Amino acid sequence: MDHESSRRPLADHARALATLVGPALASARRTLSVAPSAVLSAARDAASRPRVLVTDAAAATHLPGFDNSQMDGYAVRAADLAGATPSDPVELPVTAPVPAGTQPSPLGPGAAAPVMTGAPIPDGADAVVKIEDADPPAFPEPGADATVRFSTPVAPGAFVRRAGSDVAAGDVVVPAGTPLGPAQLGVLVAAGVTEVDVAEPPHVLLVSTGSELVAAGEPLGPAQLYDANGAMLTAALAQVGVRTTHRVVPDDPAALRAVLVDAPEDVALVVTSGGVSAGAYEVVRQTLTDAWFGHVAVQPGGPQGLGTIAVGPVEARREVPLVAFPGNPVSALVSFELFLRPVLATATGAGPTLRPRGRAPLAEPVDSPAHLHQVRRGRLDADGRVEMVGGPGSHLLAHLAAATLLVHVPPGVAHLDEGDDVDYWEIR
Ligand code: AMP
Ligand code: MG
Repeated sequence: MDHESSRRPLADHARALATLVGPALASARRTLSVAPSAVLSAARDAASRPRVLVTDAAAATHLPGFDNSQMDGYAVRAADLAGATPSDPVELPVTAPVPAGTQPSPLGPGAAAPVMTGAPIPDGADAVVKIEDADPPAFPEPGADATVRFSTPVAPGAFVRRAGSDVAAGDVVVPAGTPLGPAQLGVLVAAGVTEVDVAEPPHVLLVSTGSELVAAGEPLGPAQLYDANGAMLTAALAQVGVRTTHRVVPDDPAALRAVLVDAPEDVALVVTSGGVSAGAYEVVRQTLTDAWFGHVAVQPGGPQGLGTIAVGPVEARREVPLVAFPGNPVSALVSFELFLRPVLATATGAGPTLRPRGRAPLAEPVDSPAHLHQVRRGRLDADGRVEMVGGPGSHLLAHLAAATLLVHVPPGVAHLDEGDDVDYWEIR
């Protein structure tokens, strides 16, 4: 099993996984019609799980909703200022001021209305002169019988934000396929949209396996350890727009089967961690005998499983894809990054399909098993060179948490010198 030649190339496994999981998620996709405020409260509950728009959203109102001023200044008729010069300024009476939130009366010829940023331009006015360019460069007290002088002409439209210049009522304000982040939710609300169609996040059953595992926060007995993978993969799945139900099972096939039978009815995918190696207590491997289990030519994350499994009670049994990751926490998360994240990100549209990538010289030499694609944890040093964070060990979770990069040493490479270029993915 561990022979070099029996290992599946990384790209082959990635393709096999995408072929199995991608179409299954696409056919399980459902749409919800909700108010943007509901998207917002969902976002508050799971800040990192973006909802994706399924149907174009049309603006219910113009944005801006009315012609308004870009500056604190005077709304004028540009024609009134046509002959203004420094030596022969145009002097106009000042009308009632227009604060934001008030509907002004029309502006007749030969007058200037103090208008505040964002406040409506009075009908009849077609330009704004900013207060600094007026004489005096300050507004009179409201109610005072004042005049203002202008020493240059103003172009029609100056500092006027036209109604609908951002988006016109009825036009598409956010197109289908867009993840609803802060700016998108903001504009949906601003444009008066009351209902949007969003994709329901696919539901994944995440199962941590291992008799040694203890749920976060519970007392820890001898030889026990906390279920880091549950937290880690739940968060990683949320970032690509996926909802999870998480279960922990001991190394007991009956317990794993019970969890599969109990799976929520809309589960579209099962992801497991642990129990896939060739040891004596490999619960996933022993239970799911129809799936492919083998070694991928990658380190960490060599032992992998992939297949289809039945979930649900006997009378409503369904087949869904299964992705089985090894249990070591670094292996589990690197496996997710390599194999599952791109497929889920594509399926949900909740984030970029690929991690941002780069290439930079190494700050130190690196050794790697020549027959494996090695993925190391790293970060950029002050000179923009790639330094390792910890060694290759797949148990070094604190080092993974301190790293910002996954550093790739491809198969066929046994050694890289300081200064050699390496490819990396940014993981945060
Ligand atoms: P396995 O793949 O089940 O052989 O597990 C490999 C190693 O990862 C063992 O040392 C396990 O204790 C550890 N491990 C398995 N699952 C988890 C988990 N959910 N959280 C933290 N460590 C785990
Ligand atoms: Mg185990």
